[in-house]
Order: sequence, then structure tokens, then C-alpha cells
Amino acid sequence: MAIDEGALRKKEHTQVCEECFGTGTKLDPVKGAIPCPCRRRDRSRKLIAAARIPRRYEKCSFANFISEAGTSQDHALGAARFWHDQYPAVDRGLLFMGPSGVGKTHLAVSIVRGLIEKGFAGLFCEFGSLLKQIQDSYNPISRTSELKVLAPVYEADVLVLDELGATVPTEWVRDTMYQIINKRYNDNKLTIFTTNYLDKGNELEERITYRLRSRLYEMCTGVVMDGEDYRRRRRPDF
Ligand SMILES: [Zn+2]
Repeated sequence: MAIDEGALRKKEHTQVCEECFGTGTKLDPVKGAIPCPCRRRDRSRKLIAAARIPRRYEKCSFANFISEAGTSQDHALGAARFWHDQYPAVDRGLLFMGPSGVGKTHLAVSIVRGLIEKGFAGLFCEFGSLLKQIQDSYNPISRTSELKVLAPVYEADVLVLDELGATVPTEWVRDTMYQIINKRYNDNKLTIFTTNYLDKGNELEERITYRLRSRLYEMCTGVVMDGEDYRRRRRPDF
């Protein structure tokens, strides 16, 4: 993406950094000239904005995920943390499966936020609204194109595709889902999925087709979450 770094910085720095006076370099008494920490904060801020994490999830982190020892949520938290700690030395994504309200999206967002702090680019997409954006781009008076909608989806180091299978699976939806997921697979990009459909009794397969389900299993490690409603027990401040 072509970002005018200089212009962005100027815009962001309504007040000049007191450590480097806006130069980006500060003098350390021992090490001499070093990059100013404000530049790292700038990068983090930009990555957070680019990740498009929805407001209701923006404070989600591993630290505020509540789970009791021995539950599937606790196991999922362990799997998510491990994956995050190993990244980029991981070769498969994650597929969080479980009913609504168990904290699947919370964990997916926690991973992305953690990776952004490590300097990687992440992107959050709710699958249904991504499909809607693609459809809207077909409208001749639309000011966007399918390519423009999909470029960040294809480029992100780590992509969260939230609510896989939630959209009524018409043929177009199935083809589009497959196209997006398969492209990331072929490009060796890692994707974290959440879905309300469990992989038993063909539930998931019916929503996304056999072809996509087998692709998912090549791309991801499945993490099943069940147990009592997580949202209900969540502290009210986030
Ligand atoms: Zn500075």
C-alpha cells in the first residue's frame, strides 16, 4: 500500500515529541543516536487502525479473557496464546468452532492485537460484511472495486475471518468464500477463522461445502469451544 509516511506523521503529530523533537532520532547517553520510541508507537497505531478491529472487540486481549481451568475455553486460550507466541514460526492457521458467545472472536482479536504489538500486519473481517462489500463493488456507481476490497484481505500477514458460514450459502457465496480462502492458502498466508458451526454431523460442511471444509483442514488447526455462555459472565467494563 502506498502510504505517504511523511504526511501521515505530520498529521499525527499535533504536538512534537519531546524526546526527539519530531526528528525520529534521539541521543542516548550510552548508545548515542538511537531511533526514538515514538516512531514505534506511531507504527503500532497505524497497524491497529489498519486492522479494522470492530469497536466492541477493540479491548479484547488474552489478559481479559476469562476462563475456568479445565474448560474448553481455557484450552482454547492456551492454544491461542501458544500460536501467538510461536508466530511467525507456524505453518497453519486456527479454526475456532463453537456456539455464539463462547469467546471465539475475543481470542482471534487477542492474537491479532498481540501480533500488531510485535510489528506484524493483521486484518479483521467479518465474513458477511466482506461479502456485502464485494457485492456492493459490482454496483456500477460504486466508487470501489472488488480488487480494492480484496487487496488488504489478500495482503495481511494474519487475517481473521469472523463468522464463517453465517451467510446464507448461495452458489455465489460459496464460490467467493472458496476463492478468498484458497488464494490465501496458495500464497501461504495464515488465516484465523471463527465459526458457529461445529464440525460434527456435517454442520460446517453444509454451510461451506465439502471442498472448502477440506481446504480449511489443510490450512488450520481446529479449536472447539463450548461450555457456558461466555458473554454473560464477562465483566461489564469490556
Ligand atoms: Zn520522538
